[in-house]
Amino acid sequence: MKFNKQKSPQAEKEFGGTLGATCIPVFLPLTVLYLLCVCRSPVASVLQWPPVLPPTAQLWDPLAPVLILGWMALQSFFYLLPMGKVRRLCFYLSLFLSPSTGFHALCITAVLLTLSLWLGMPLGYLFELLLPLAVCAIGVSFLLSLYLYISSFWAPHHALAQGGNTGNPLYDFFMGRELNPRIGSFDLKYFCELRPGLIGWVVINFGMLMKEVELRDSASLAMILVNGFQLLYVADALWNEEAVLTTMDIVHDGFGFMLVFGDLAWVPFTYSLQAAFLVVHPQSLSPLGATAIVTLNGAGYYIFRKSNSQKNQFRRDPTHPSVSKLETIATATGKRLLVSGWWGLVRHPNYLGDLLMALAWSLPCGFNHLLPYFYVVYFTVLLIHREARDERHCRAKYGLAWDSYCRRVPYRIFPYIY
Ligand code: NDP
Repeated sequence: MKFNKQKSPQAEKEFGGTLGATCIPVFLPLTVLYLLCVCRSPVASVLQWPPVLPPTAQLWDPLAPVLILGWMALQSFFYLLPMGKVRRLCFYLSLFLSPSTGFHALCITAVLLTLSLWLGMPLGYLFELLLPLAVCAIGVSFLLSLYLYISSFWAPHHALAQGGNTGNPLYDFFMGRELNPRIGSFDLKYFCELRPGLIGWVVINFGMLMKEVELRDSASLAMILVNGFQLLYVADALWNEEAVLTTMDIVHDGFGFMLVFGDLAWVPFTYSLQAAFLVVHPQSLSPLGATAIVTLNGAGYYIFRKSNSQKNQFRRDPTHPSVSKLETIATATGKRLLVSGWWGLVRHPNYLGDLLMALAWSLPCGFNHLLPYFYVVYFTVLLIHREARDERHCRAKYGLAWDSYCRRVPYRIFPYIY
């Protein structure tokens, strides 16, 4: 794709322009800390006024920076491990652990966790450390974003992102000036997108499960479901790690505070809210309720995986038998757009599946509190906003062909609704 990387006033409108880029880096970190406080409080009400504020002593623990920096170093080490070579050396291992080293990192982390449990490490203590860990992750996000902003001035012109080069320092710091910054061969964005945050999320979840075991001698069904569903989601993302290479985050967005904070602080600490909530607010689930929730998660996962795989396969090899019979329309770029199969149902079937799963992750927490539904509400807003951004990019890329796709497939995410 060719685009003009000169200063673009139109790009400044994204995320509320300069005002958004100034307020979001203040508002979102405070939101993370606020949600963690609410979720650990007995009332757990997001509507409580005045809001629950922790004593400052609860925000800091000297162990937290050690754990956060150690975690980043450990995951960087896994990232650098020459797994591809190991795979080629060991055929049987390659059958088991075929495509991606992100999945290897998850497996090695699981082995280390098992070992640390066996050595008697109190993983449930992560519950007490949640706030200090979040404070440190937020601090690391700011420092890394600052480094990225400054180092981008040494990047060659062709390495800059379209949206993050307006000349306005606050906006560019937020959006990211450089598209895919590297230290040597270490791709910082590719690493941060999936490794430390996603694996950190399931480790925090597991810590919450262990805390529940400490408190009540066993893990509840609700906690097991939340852990299981989210582990499946993370394992799937890491197994299909290479698919991230075609996402908007990698292809279009610069690597700035928006993505760094999202990857390192927002995802691990807000996506694990349901598990943290269940530690303080245990829920009992009937077998029928649990079956319905498992079915909903299964349906969401099926739609999410099938639709993502169909598009990835089509983009990789349109002549592959699984996609070659699908109806398509031509575009002026030479690329074709699917208008049947999953992508003929709605224009973002993968978002539909993702949202069904989001609901299934909240339902085990019962109906008495709003907080566990924060993820569904936030994620709906995020995906509607993301869908609108993607539509803008696709309309600019495909012009009239995109308009005719929209006429053929009128609904964006929810069939017959939106
Ligand atoms: P998508 O995977 O939805 O990709 C959008 C791109 O697909 C478009 O830019 C276009 O790119 C291509 N495309 C669109 N329509 C068609 C069509 N009809 N035929 C062929 N190609 C088409 O983008 P995302 O990166 O937003 O999402 C990836 C996954 O990640 C989703 O499942 C989403 O739910 C998930 N996600 C999860 C988040 C989380 O926090 N849990 C956050 C964000 C996303 P081109 O034509 O150039 O190939």
